[in-house]
Amino acid sequence: MKNTFQHPLPDKDGYFGEYGGSFIPPELQTIIDEITDAYEKIREDPAFLAELADLYKHYVGRPSPIFHAKNLSAKYGTDIYLKREDLNHTGAHKINHCLGQALLAKKMGKKKLIAETGAGQHGVALATAAALVGLKCDIYMGEVDIIKEHPNVVRMHILGAKVIPATHGRKTLKEAVDAAFGGYLEDPVTQLYAIGSVVGPHPFPMMVRDFQSIVGNEAKKQFAEMTGGLPDNLVACIGGGSNAMGLFSAFLDDESVKLMGCEPSGRDLDTDGEHAATLTKGEPGVMHGFKSYMLKDKEGEPQEVYSVASGLDYPSVGPQHSYLKDIKRVIYETVDDKEAIDAFFELSRLEGIIPAIESAHAVAQAVRMAKNGEKGSILINLSGRGDKDIDFVVENYGKDYGIDSEL
Ligand SMILES: *Cc1c(COP(=O)(O)O)cnc(C)c1O
Repeated sequence: MKNTFQHPLPDKDGYFGEYGGSFIPPELQTIIDEITDAYEKIREDPAFLAELADLYKHYVGRPSPIFHAKNLSAKYGTDIYLKREDLNHTGAHKINHCLGQALLAKKMGKKKLIAETGAGQHGVALATAAALVGLKCDIYMGEVDIIKEHPNVVRMHILGAKVIPATHGRKTLKEAVDAAFGGYLEDPVTQLYAIGSVVGPHPFPMMVRDFQSIVGNEAKKQFAEMTGGLPDNLVACIGGGSNAMGLFSAFLDDESVKLMGCEPSGRDLDTDGEHAATLTKGEPGVMHGFKSYMLKDKEGEPQEVYSVASGLDYPSVGPQHSYLKDIKRVIYETVDDKEAIDAFFELSRLEGIIPAIESAHAVAQAVRMAKNGEKGSILINLSGRGDKDIDFVVENYGKDYGIDSEL
C-alpha cells in the first residue's frame, strides 16, 4: 500500500501557520517527542500501513459507501451525497483514529491506553480498539456523565475497560480531562494518552488527521466513480474537527471544491456558555497544550460551552482548522440546536437514516446551502449514527415531530 499520509503541514514543530505546536511541561515533552519519532517512522512503514488497512477493511467495514440521497436532493433541488461513516463498526468515524493510535501504542511497547470521554463515544471506540490489539484501557469520565451516558459506560465495562470517575468540580468533561491528564502523568512511559480529535500538542493533530484521511481518500475515488468528477461542496460538522479534517484533507488542493465546516450555535450564538462556535466567536489562545482559536471566559480560562450534540461541545478546535479559516480555504458557519434536530428527523424520514445529532448539524448546513441556491453537488460527512441519541431526542423533542414522549 502506498503511503497516503503525505501533507505539507504541519511543519516539523507541529505548526499550521501560527497554530498548533506543543505547550506542555518539559518532563512530558521528552515522552511526546518519542511518540512523534515513533509515529514518523511507522507512517512510512509498509507493514504498519498494511496492518491498518487490513483492519479498516475487515474490522471496521471500510470503505464506507457514498449514498446519493435522492429524496433529500429532490426536495431541495440539488444533489446531496452522504459519506456513510455511520456504518462503521461502533457507529462513527472515531474508530479510524482509535485503531491507529492503539496500533502505534502496541508498536511502542506501551501497556495501556488512556483517555477522557464526555458522552462516552471516544471511550467506547478506544475501549474497542484496546480490546482488539490487546492493551489495557482506562477511561476517565465525569461522575455526572457516567449517570447520564449509562449505555456507553456499560459498553466500556463489557469491552474490558476501566471507567474512572472524575469527582471534582462540575464532574463533566473538563474535570475528566484534568483527571485523565493526572492519570497520564503518573506513568507516561507505559501509557499512551489517545486523543479523541485533531487537538492536543503535536503530533496529535497531525496523527489523528492522518488516520482520518482514509475518509477523504475513499470519498474522492468513490465520487469520481459515481459521477466522473469532484464534488462541488463538502460539508462536515466541527467538534474538535477530526471528521472534517479527514474528509477535507484529500481535497485541500482542489480549488473548485468549496469546503464548509459547521459549528454548533446551540441555544444562542450571542450568549457565552450557550454555544460552542469556537471559530466563529473565539480568539487565538493556548489550552490543552496547543494554540488555536478558543472560547475564553473573563479570566481567560476555557469557557463553559454547550450544544445539543455533546460530541460538538469543545471550547477549542483543531489547529489546522484555525489555519484554514485564516487563509479562507474553509468557510465556517453555524447551525443551532433547532436546525440540527429538524435535520435529524428530516434525514430519518426522507432517507431512512437516523444520524448522530452531531452529523445532523452537517445535514442542516447542506439543506440551508441548497435552500439558498448553492450551485452543484454537496457531499456531507455523515460522521455517525443516531442510536445513541434516540431516547434523548424523543424525550425532549418528540412531541414537535408527532411522537408521544411517553412511548
Ligand atoms: C465525536 C463526534 C463528532 C465530533 O468530533 P470531530 O473531532 O469534530 O469529528 C462528530 N460526530 C460524531 C458522530 C462524533 O461521535
